[in-house]
Amino acid sequence: MPTADVVVLGGGSTGTSAAFQLARRRYGKVVLVERDSVGAGPTAKSIGIIRLHYSHEPLIRLAARSLELFKGFEGLTAATADFTRCGFLLLAPEREMGVLRANVELQHRFGIGSSVLTPPEIAALDPRMTLDDVAGAAWEPESGFADGYATAAGFAAAARREGAEIWEKTAVQRLIVDGGRVRAVQTARGEISTPAVLAACGPWTPALLQPLGVIVPIQSSRQQVVQLAPPPGFGALGVVIEDLAQGFYVRPEAGNTVLAGVLEEEAEQIVSPDAFDRGVDLDFVERVGQMWARRYPGARDAEVRRGYASLYDITPDWQPVLGAVDGIGGLHIAAGFSGHGFKLSPALGEVLAAIIAGETAGIDVSMFRLSRFAEGHPIRGRHAQGILG
Ligand SMILES: Cc1cc2nc3c(=O)[nH]c(=O)nc-3n(C[C@H](O)[C@H](O)[C@H](O)COP(=O)(O)OP(=O)(O)OC[C@H]3O[C@@H](n4cnc5c(N)ncnc54)[C@H](O)[C@@H]3O)c2cc1C
Repeated sequence: MPTADVVVLGGGSTGTSAAFQLARRRYGKVVLVERDSVGAGPTAKSIGIIRLHYSHEPLIRLAARSLELFKGFEGLTAATADFTRCGFLLLAPEREMGVLRANVELQHRFGIGSSVLTPPEIAALDPRMTLDDVAGAAWEPESGFADGYATAAGFAAAARREGAEIWEKTAVQRLIVDGGRVRAVQTARGEISTPAVLAACGPWTPALLQPLGVIVPIQSSRQQVVQLAPPPGFGALGVVIEDLAQGFYVRPEAGNTVLAGVLEEEAEQIVSPDAFDRGVDLDFVERVGQMWARRYPGARDAEVRRGYASLYDITPDWQPVLGAVDGIGGLHIAAGFSGHGFKLSPALGEVLAAIIAGETAGIDVSMFRLSRFAEGHPIRGRHAQGILG
C-alpha cells in the first residue's frame, strides 16, 4: 500500500498552495489527490480579485502576505499567476463609510498603503463614473487580480518539482480513522496510508467528513458571472471595483471587456454542489448590466459576451474553517472560503504547512477553528456584505 506523511484532498488554489509549501519545507512524502484536474473546480471560475480590505487582522495579514507572493509568483514557482496590478476601489454609500474608515485604519497598522478617497478624488481616478450615490471609497493602488487556474496549476507543478505526488482524476472516497487518529485515505486508485490529512475540497468538504461525525457547516451557493463588452470608444476599465452602493463588482478583462457579478448580503441561491445550473440567467445579466450602466453611463450599451455559474462554499459567518479538527488526530480542514479565498491562498499554504508540521504559524488563524460555531463565536466582518469579510 502506498504511504504518505500527509495527503492533501482537493487541488484548488488552497490545496495546491499547501502541497507546495509542505513539499518545499521537506515535510516528508506529500500526496495531493484531486478527482478532476488541478484547479478545475471553483478556483478556475474565480474572478481572482486581490484586495486587502478586511475587518479582521488575520485576514488583512493573509491577504497582504499573499499579495507579496502573487507579485513574486514566478520566482517562487517558475510559473505565472497572471497577476495584474491595477488598483482596487471599494465604493461605499454613506451608511458604509464608518466601517470602511475603520478597516482602512486597521490596514494602516500593518503598513498597508491604502487610503480613503472623497468623490472628487474618485472622479480623478476615473472621470467616466457617476458618483451621486457614493460617499467615498477605499483605494488600494497595489491590489488587482490574478488567474485562479494558472495559480493552482503553477503551485501544483512547483509542488511536483519539490517532490510531491499529484494524483489527478482520482476521487477520494473516504477517510479511515482508527483509535481517534487518521490512518489512511481510500481513493479510487486504492488506499494511501497516512497519519495526516488536509481536507481542502471546497463545497464537497462536508460530505467527505460527515461519515466521521465531523459536521462542517458549509453550503454551496450558485454564483453567476457575466462578461460585458462596453461600446467602442469607452476604452478599458482601469481598476477593480467593488461597489457597495449598488451591490456589484467588476474587473477589467482582456480585449477592453469586463467581468461582473453581484455582492450579496446573504446567499441568494443555495444549491447541490453536484447538480446546479452552470449557465447564466437573463434576469441576472439585466440586473448586473443595469448596475454597470448606472455607474458608467457612457458604457450603457454594453454587449453580453458570455456568462457562467460556479459555487461559493459558504459558512454561516462567511469565513473559512481552518486548522485541526478536535477529536480526530491528524485531520485538518481548509474550506468554506465563502467566495473570498483565492486572494488568501498563497499565504494560507505557508500557514497550513506550519500548522501541519506542528509549528507556530506566522499568522494566527485560530479564530477560524471549526469549533467556533458550536462555541457561539462566529466572525462576521463589519460590512453588510459577508463576502467583504
Ligand atoms: C464566480 C466566483 C468568483 C470568485 N471571485 C473571487 C475573487 O474575486 N477573489 C477571491 O479571493 N476569491 C474569489 N472566489 C473564491 C475563490 O475562487 C475560492 O475561495 C477559492 O478558489 C477556493 O479554492 P479551494 O482550493 O479552497 O476550493 P476549490 O476550488 O473548490 O477546490 C476544491 C477541489 O476539491 C476537489 N474535490 C472535491 N471533492 C473531491 C474528492 N472527493 N476527491 C478529490 N478531490 C475532490 C474538487 O474537484 C476541486 O478541484 C470566487 C469564486 C467564484 C466561484
